[in-house]
Amino acid sequence: MNLVFLGPPGAGKGTQAKRLSQELGLKHISTGDILREAVKNQTPLGKKAKEYMDRGELVPDDLIIALIEEVMPPEGGVIFDGFPRTIAQAKALDEMLSRKGMKVDKVILFDVPDEVVVERLSGRRVCPSCGAVYHVKFNPPKSDEICDKCGTKLIQREDDKEKVVRNRLEVYRKQTAPLIEYYEDKGILIRLDASKDIEEVYRELKRVVGA
Ligand code: ADP
Ligand code: AMP
Repeated sequence: MNLVFLGPPGAGKGTQAKRLSQELGLKHISTGDILREAVKNQTPLGKKAKEYMDRGELVPDDLIIALIEEVMPPEGGVIFDGFPRTIAQAKALDEMLSRKGMKVDKVILFDVPDEVVVERLSGRRVCPSCGAVYHVKFNPPKSDEICDKCGTKLIQREDDKEKVVRNRLEVYRKQTAPLIEYYEDKGILIRLDASKDIEEVYRELKRVVGA
């Protein structure tokens, strides 16, 4: 089974993908996580991607598509989180999967109003070492600003600061939201009310993917 998690930044895709991928034995592919790691390690991809990410713009399609070709397991079984983000990426994914005799089985649209997204992004804290994600109010670490898993001091992502957040939401509306119709036309889009709390969203998510 190949799933796509679609929705605005801060909708909760990563939080749910981490958990569901573990429970179902799927591979979690987050292009955002891979790109941040590449930026941290100053790889050629990271060097090219950094300026786009800092501005909250999308990294060019050719770089993202090449990246997906590289990390896609031949047998499938993936949760794509934050990919595809443009129609060109969605078409490339369809082609890539069909070459291997697979397809996107379900697309889960994480539906949340803008004000919820802004509140989630402004309170998001991440571990710069292991990548764990918290929220100051909705999913706080046990001890203040310290990662439960590895003890590192948590940070706020630069692109979660207000100025960049506004641009990311605009980019989502213009470049990514058209994917809703793209997948609706294929009859594989499922809308999920992602404004509920983490546990409730997870229960509903499992129900809609048939897990
Ligand atoms: P995305 O991957 O879609 O950008 P995240 O999974 O990183 O979003 O979630 C954004 C922020 O909101 C994080 O701080 C996370 O802890 C928090 N969060 C995720 N899901 C929920 C939820 N259902 N209710 C409240 N906060 C949530
Ligand atoms: P995310 O962690 O999904 O919020 O992504 C963080 C940033 O990485 C985005 O604002 C983009 O700059 C870049 N990015 C992640 N995924 C993609 C993608 N599929 N296409 C283009 N840019 C991406």
